[in-house]
Amino acid sequence: MIEEVTIPQSESPCAQPGGGGPLTYAFDRSEFWRTIPTWRDVDTETFGDFRWQQRNSVTSIQGIQEALGELARPALIADIEAGLLKTPMNVRLTPYIFSRIHWGNVEADPVRRQFLPLGSQFVPDHPHVMDDSLAEDSNKATPHLTHRYPDKALFLPITLCPVYCSFCTRSRVVGGSTAVKSKSTYGAKSNEWDATFEYIRSRPELEDIVISGGDALLLRPSQIRQIGTTLLEIPTVRRIRFATKGLAIMPMKFTSDIEWVEALGEVCQLGRERMKEVALHTHFNTDREITAWTSSAMKALSETGVRVRNQSVLISGVNDGFDCLHYTSKKLSSLLVQPYYVYLHDMVPGCEHLRTTVDRAEYLSRRLQGSIAGFNTPRVVCDAPGGGGKREISSYTLYDREIGVSAWTSPTAKPGEIFYYYDPIHRLPEDGQALWANEAEIKRRLAKFKAEAMAKAEATRH
Ligand code: SF4
Repeated sequence: MIEEVTIPQSESPCAQPGGGGPLTYAFDRSEFWRTIPTWRDVDTETFGDFRWQQRNSVTSIQGIQEALGELARPALIADIEAGLLKTPMNVRLTPYIFSRIHWGNVEADPVRRQFLPLGSQFVPDHPHVMDDSLAEDSNKATPHLTHRYPDKALFLPITLCPVYCSFCTRSRVVGGSTAVKSKSTYGAKSNEWDATFEYIRSRPELEDIVISGGDALLLRPSQIRQIGTTLLEIPTVRRIRFATKGLAIMPMKFTSDIEWVEALGEVCQLGRERMKEVALHTHFNTDREITAWTSSAMKALSETGVRVRNQSVLISGVNDGFDCLHYTSKKLSSLLVQPYYVYLHDMVPGCEHLRTTVDRAEYLSRRLQGSIAGFNTPRVVCDAPGGGGKREISSYTLYDREIGVSAWTSPTAKPGEIFYYYDPIHRLPEDGQALWANEAEIKRRLAKFKAEAMAKAEATRH
């Protein structure tokens, strides 16, 4: 039986990077949302209704002020306003995740840092950032399908989410336009998916289909059924996964939207009949997102038979400490959520302050190994910019820590190509930062690095 107790948010290792303490599987079951002035009188039943969560989501600076009431310090509001002028992502937070922020220490808070950018925390983009860091658009097989790996494809039926994350790798398309980014966002239109299903039917090598976006949580139950049954009925498709951040930001969806869970349950049942896997891939970054609501959601999901895995993004000031990653992984494992990947932050615009280095990711990977059962130890990976796909963090061909550039090959997905990841300049040693400030010097150094990387890749090709 899982112990569910009330713990102060300040006891979370993710609130105190480098902290630590004994591991107890404690799940906050307090009425924590009542600390937010606007929800002071909201009872548990109301808070636990996904419709209420959606209706009361915070989507603007005015909404933040109204929710916080007397907690809305003018300097903080001005800082958030300045952040919104620089970010490619809209503001949207469910009351659940909004009230997981520790507003008494908001500047350093790891939940706030993921969803509400502060103008004062931005640093200039790296010169090598890419709008489409994973080359999803250039590998499109249909308007809604990216086919990058030989046996796996990414189906994007929707570009809307119940929350918007500052670090989103698809910031070029997800959510609405912002002051710095115009987008043509699309909702789920099931009449446009036939070409995608047809393409998957025509490519028997495609065994795995990821249904992402956007967030599958916002697909209607009929659309979950349509996508699930159509894909599972294609003989060559063996596994499907719905990607949703829902468990981390609106767990009550799984206990109060009975129709949605039933639709998922039917898809899982069909999967079992066909000996095919149906999985749900979710996205917790810290243990602060895990509460007694998560535990209830997982109990409901367990009954559908869906396999649940977690993918985190490694974010500076959020989860780049061993204690936080370790505790989050252990806590997820205790709820049958399998920690799967920790991604090095992609090289996308507007979130340089959130990225960290390959060196840091390697350190965390080494610490994680052996600290949890192997099947619950997340793999720390770099999704090689330019479309190289996921690479184990220590599998680079060459890494220059001074100028923060690493070279990666991808012999199966993109044979013969080399991909480069650039660490954030402000996290480099002083000499490295000085080199980036000197255009001629950094060009020379990068050219030398790339020549060495090519030679090494050639020498190690088998
Ligand atoms: S939920 Fe996922 S797709 Fe949506 S904004 Fe966050 S990271 Fe991007």
